[in-house]
Amino acid sequence: MIETTLREIAPTTSGPIIDSTIGKPTSVIDRRDTRKAVIIGAGPAGLTAAHEFLTRSGIKPIVLEKSDEIGGIARTIRYKGNRIDIGGHRFFSKSDRVMDWWMKILPTEKGAESEFTITYQNQSRTLEAQTPGPDPDHEDRVMLVRERKSRIYFLRKFFDYPISLSLTTMRNLGIIRMIKIGLSYIKAMLLPIKNESNLEEFFINRFGGELYRTFFRSYTEKVWGRACHEISAEWGAQRIKGLNIVKAIQHAVTSIFRRSTGIAQKGVETSLIERFLYPKHGPGQLWEEVARQVGEMGGEVRMNQDVVQIHRRGGKIVAVTTRERNTGMEETIDGDVFFSTMPIKELIRSITPKAEEKVLEVSDGLVYRDFITVGLLVDRLIVKDSNSKVQSLIRDNWIYVQEPDVKVGRLQIFNNWSPYLVADPNKVWLGLEYFCNEGDELWTMSDASLIFLGKDELARIGIIDIADVSDATVIRVPKTYPAYFGTYDRLDEVKEFLGSYDNLFLVGRNGMHKYNNQDHSMLTAMTAVDNILEGRTDQSNIWAVNTEQEYHEEKAKESAAVSS
Ligand SMILES: Cc1cc2nc3c(=O)[nH]c(=O)nc-3n(C[C@H](O)[C@H](O)[C@H](O)COP(=O)(O)OP(=O)(O)OC[C@H]3O[C@@H](n4cnc5c(N)ncnc54)[C@H](O)[C@@H]3O)c2cc1C
Repeated sequence: MIETTLREIAPTTSGPIIDSTIGKPTSVIDRRDTRKAVIIGAGPAGLTAAHEFLTRSGIKPIVLEKSDEIGGIARTIRYKGNRIDIGGHRFFSKSDRVMDWWMKILPTEKGAESEFTITYQNQSRTLEAQTPGPDPDHEDRVMLVRERKSRIYFLRKFFDYPISLSLTTMRNLGIIRMIKIGLSYIKAMLLPIKNESNLEEFFINRFGGELYRTFFRSYTEKVWGRACHEISAEWGAQRIKGLNIVKAIQHAVTSIFRRSTGIAQKGVETSLIERFLYPKHGPGQLWEEVARQVGEMGGEVRMNQDVVQIHRRGGKIVAVTTRERNTGMEETIDGDVFFSTMPIKELIRSITPKAEEKVLEVSDGLVYRDFITVGLLVDRLIVKDSNSKVQSLIRDNWIYVQEPDVKVGRLQIFNNWSPYLVADPNKVWLGLEYFCNEGDELWTMSDASLIFLGKDELARIGIIDIADVSDATVIRVPKTYPAYFGTYDRLDEVKEFLGSYDNLFLVGRNGMHKYNNQDHSMLTAMTAVDNILEGRTDQSNIWAVNTEQEYHEEKAKESAAVSS
C-alpha cells in the first residue's frame, strides 16, 4: 500500500508557506527563493525537475528542448491517428514517490478494482485506485491498468518469457535439444568456466551452453551489435531477470500434477499475471500533461532549442547558448542552477572554454546503441494462440524475436498496450524494433527499404502475410541505449571534472550515461531538486539512484532471461 498521499499544489505567495509535496515529507516552501533553473531536455528527467521546482519552491525553471516533441525517448509518436510508443514503456516503480507522482498526473481508470496489484520483474505492489476513476472510453486523462504478456519467438514457435520449463516448452524444443540442454547444464554446474570475464561465459555458467545458444545469444547480439564474448560479464548481472533453473524444474513437475486439478491451476495462472500502469495515449501523454502543468504554474518549456554551448566561469556554470532549429537564431540564457539530460558526450563537447583533452578523450569514447522502429499497420496476424478457437489477436504486448535469420529484434503489438493507440480497432498496429548504430547500414537505409525489410522478415518467419499490410512508417531514435563499453570504465574522470561545478546537475539516462528507466530518471531529478532545496552540495546521492548492486546480483543468480 502506498503510504504517502497526494495533496494540492500550494498557491504562490511571497512568504514561506506549508507545502505538501508528492512523496516527500511535508516541508516549507520558500517562494522568496527566486533563482532560475535552466534545464536541458524535456524528457522525463527534465520535466520532473521543472515540476518539482514549481510545486516546492519559488525557483523558476526554463526547459530547453531541441526537438519539437515532449517526452524524450518516452514520447508518443503520432502517425495518421495511430500512436507509437518507442520501446514500450511500462509504468512501474519500486518507489512510492514515483508511483504517487504518476497517479497524481493521470488518475487510474474506472473499473480498476479499488485496490489492485501491479507487478514487474518479480516486484509487486498494491495501489489504491482513484474512485470514481475516469472512464477511458469518454475521458483522455486516464491511466489504464494493463496486463503484461511477452514471449520469445524461436524456431517459428512461441516460448514463455521469462522461460518456463512447461510441457509446451519441452514439446517445442524437441527431445534431442532438451537432452542437450540438460547435459550442458549439468556440465556447467560441475565444470564452470573459471574467472568468467564476458557475457557468454556468464550465461554458460548459469544456464549451460545449449540453453544460452537457444534463448540468449541471438537476441543479445542483436541488441548490442557485438558477440556476447565481447560484452562484459557485469552486464549480465545488471540486466537479467527470470527464474532459477531448479525452481523452473520444480514448477514444471508440479504443474504436470496440477493439470488435473483445474482450480489449483487457475490459481497459479492468476498469480503469474503481471500488470502495469499505462497512459491511455502512451507515455508521451503523461509527459505532455506534465509540460502543460509546468507552463500553467509559471515555468517555461521552449521547443526547438538546441543547447550548443555551456559557459563556465570561476567554478560555476553561468549560461547556455541555444540555437533555434528552424531559424538558426542563437540566444544565451543565464541561470543559477543547470540540469543536463543531454548525452554526456555532447555536453562535454559543448562546454566552453573547452574541457581538458583527457576529459574529452573519455567522453568522446562513450558508446551508444541506436534504434529504429518500423510501424506496420496490418489487417491481421497469421499467428494465433494455440488455445484460441477463434482468430483473435494474440495478447502479447511485445515479442522477443530470437530467430537468427532475421534482423528484427523485438515486435511490439501496440493494440495490446492500449487499444486507444490504434485508430481503426479492426487493424493491428505493429512496431518492429531494429537495434543499430547511427550511420551504419541499417540506420542509413531508405525508409522504403526498411519497410520492405520489415514486411519481408515478418512474413518469412510466419507472423504476417505481406498482402495484409496497409500502411507503414519508420522512426529512427539515436542514443537509446548508453552502452557499458567504450570508455565507460573511465567515466569517473568525466564525473570528477563536472563535479567541480556544484551548480550543474547531471540527471536522467543519457544525462548520466546510465541504464535508467523513467522512474530512475525521475528520481535522479527529484533528488537533485531535494539537494538544492536542502542546500546539500554533495551529489553522491544522485549517482546512487538505481545502483542497487545487491538487488541486481541477487537477480542474476536466479536468472533466466535478458530483458530490454
Ligand atoms: C527500448 C526502450 C524501452 C524502455 N522501456 C521502459 C519501460 O518499460 N519503463 C520505463 O520506465 N522506462 C523505459 N525506458 C527508459 C526511458 O525511456 C528513459 O528512462 C527515459 O526516457 C529517460 O528520460 P531522460 O529525461 O533522462 O532522457 P530522454 O528521454 O532521452 O530525454 C532527453 C531529452 O533531452 C533532449 N536533448 C538532448 N540534447 C539536447 C540539447 N543539446 N539541447 C536541448 N535538448 C536536448 C532530447 O531531445 C530529449 O527530449 C525504455 C527505453 C528504451 C530505449
